Amino acid sequence: MALTIGGGRATAATVSPVVDANLYDLGASMPEGDGARATARAAATSAWGGYSNGQIPASAMTKVPVSVGQPYLRGDAAAAYNDLNRAFQARFGKSLSITEAYRDLARQRALYAAYQAGTGSKAAVPGTSVHGWALACDFGSGVASGGSAEKQWANANGPKFGWQPVGDSFGEAWHFEYDGSYQGSGSGSDRSTDDDMRVIQSAGRGIALIGSGYFYQLPEGEFVSAATKLWGDPFIGNDRQFDLWRAMVLQGTTA
Ligand SMILES: [Zn+2]
Repeated sequence: MALTIGGGRATAATVSPVVDANLYDLGASMPEGDGARATARAAATSAWGGYSNGQIPASAMTKVPVSVGQPYLRGDAAAAYNDLNRAFQARFGKSLSITEAYRDLARQRALYAAYQAGTGSKAAVPGTSVHGWALACDFGSGVASGGSAEKQWANANGPKFGWQPVGDSFGEAWHFEYDGSYQGSGSGSDRSTDDDMRVIQSAGRGIALIGSGYFYQLPEGEFVSAATKLWGDPFIGNDRQFDLWRAMVLQGTTA
């Protein structure tokens, strides 16, 4: 579910009163249904640019940091990863690392041969891996472990950036695929109407990131700046409003 906070964005100089009943409009801004997502995904995870799977020139891709293989993703997937990474950083205070992104045909062949020989992990038939389209990421930073807070967060938030936890369907918690649906973050202001996370602040409580069922008190410094870059300037309220916002997102009610 998504939420919107009514009452407009306040600044320190112009704090406007917020009507409680108007704070949350749950579900009002879900971007699209499953059908549209499935269509986008089918289009996104197939051939692009006239290239063959695993034979995409580096010049046609965008660099991302990886620990294995070649450090590339398709440009839109890389941009979506960068924004996802900023959100992950704001939440966990560490980067969302990529074990592997683009995989060339030679490497896919080697991995597939090892899989067939029973000496390697699962690998797609060469020429069919989504890694070969530079549209898959194997994530580290805790996301590879099924029950971790990082994995739960990535499953809940990755899709907002177009990164789908596709690997869950074949037992690879770490494997995510980009579905082409992310429109980009741009400035904080152009995200303010269609995102479901908000930064809130009050004098006595400090700064926190909130979303539906989600509350995270932000440490000062780089986490605050990463969060505001992504979700815009904080909504500023008094301590009572801050507590109310926290109660609303965590309990869905203040009753
Ligand atoms: Zn993978």
